[in-house]
Order: sequence, then C-alpha cells, then structure tokens
Amino acid sequence: MRKKIVAGNWKMNGTYEDGLKLASEVIHMVQDEVNSDVEVVLCTPFIHLSSVGKLTKEVPNVHLGAQNCSEYTSGAYTGEVSVQMLRSVHAEYVIIGHSERREYFNETNQQLAKKVAMALSAGLTPIFCCGEPLQVREAEQQYPYVTQQITESLFDLSEDDMKKVVIAYEPIWAIGTGRTASSQQAQEMHKVLRQHIANRYSEALAAEISILYGGSAKPDNAEELFACPDVDGGLIGGASLKSRDFLQVVKACK
Ligand code: PGA
Repeated sequence: MRKKIVAGNWKMNGTYEDGLKLASEVIHMVQDEVNSDVEVVLCTPFIHLSSVGKLTKEVPNVHLGAQNCSEYTSGAYTGEVSVQMLRSVHAEYVIIGHSERREYFNETNQQLAKKVAMALSAGLTPIFCCGEPLQVREAEQQYPYVTQQITESLFDLSEDDMKKVVIAYEPIWAIGTGRTASSQQAQEMHKVLRQHIANRYSEALAAEISILYGGSAKPDNAEELFACPDVDGGLIGGASLKSRDFLQVVKACK
C-alpha cells in the first residue's frame, strides 16, 4: 500500500570521486541483486548531486536526494541552495530537519515548516526528520516531544501536500552511536506518529504515509526493524557509506 524506502544519508563524507564511486557501486548492486519494489534514495552532498543524478536517472528504483534546502526561493542568500536548483539536477527527495541541522545550525520547527512547504512547491518529496534527545527519552517525554515536532512543522499542510511527505523517526541517542532503538521502541513511536497524523487528517491518509526509522540501522538489525508493521524502511547514515552494507540493508526491506 505505502512505499517502502531505504535512503542513504551520506552526510559530509568523502570527496566527489569517492561519492561517484559509491553511487555507481550501489546502482550496479541494486540493479543486479534487488528485485523488490523498495525505493532506494541516495542523499548526497550538494556538489555530488548533478553527477550522481546522471547515474540514478537511468535506473528506475534508485533516486536522488539532497540533505537540506533553502527556505528561500532565490536571490541574495549567500551559500544557500534552492529547491529549483535541486530539481534542475533531477533530485526527487530532500532530507529536512535532520537532528544535526537542528542542533548545529539551530533549525527550528517553524523554519522547517517553511522548508517542507518550499520543497513540496517544487515537486520534491521531503524526508522530514524528527526524534528526541536522550534526556527526553529518559524522562519518558518522547511521545509529546516528537508529536509536537510533527504538529509544528507539518500540520499546516493541506491534505494533498501531507500525503506527499515521508517521515523519518530518528531518536538522537541512536544516531551514529551504535545504539539502535529496539524494534519495539521504533514500532511504538511509529504507531503513535501514524495515529497523530490520523487524528489531524484521516486514518486513510495516515495509512499512506511512509515512516522510516533511522539511527544506527545496519545489516545486523535492519531486518528486525523493517519487519515492524509501521516501519516502512530506513534512513541510513554510517551503513550507507559502504556499498555492500547498504545493499544488505536495502535487501532487508521487503
Ligand atoms: P546513522 O545515522 O545510521 O549513522 O546512525 C542516521 C542518520 O543520521 O540519518
């Protein structure tokens, strides 16, 4: 019913040459070894996009994504990259609100709402990230915390726009730490988020939205995570930087 997606978030790793090598390895492996209809997304650094886009364009189930976009349309915003620029190099997805952007670049829920709307206006699919820090989980406040992120950044969208959003739940304590959320913790949060969306929009709309898990997902644990009924794939950091590991994670998504 809803799409299964495995997206690699390369973050700020490797040179341009490293990125092209990684992309072509992944594309060949996916072509040769993946026969499910999982959608594979490569979210590369900006400077790789144009070249990687030329490779992904030839392959039906591998897509191109950016890791951020500007909330502004165009003009005097030094250092920013617009959604139209991303479209012009054939990007189809854009990660918005990754916890590293929230933490190191002070992105707020309100600013992220603008970025999500901007991405949708250009026909890009936002992969909207949400997730709680460790102290919030320890205080058992993770559900109100994460649902508030969704409310403040997404709930002004029309039904038609909301349907196009992909959500990635990434508990901050699990990102790059090797400490994965248990499949039970992931499933519980994903179910809460889906219900939250159903309450604002409808059960039917909530059932259509892909909710990905991210945070130390890797070949060892991907199958168990992806087997959860409300987990529709993953946003993969560290394990997306080695083509063989990433392929194993893709294959675990059935
Ligand atoms: P990780 O990162 O898989 O390295 O934990 C995931 C992410 O930050 O998207």
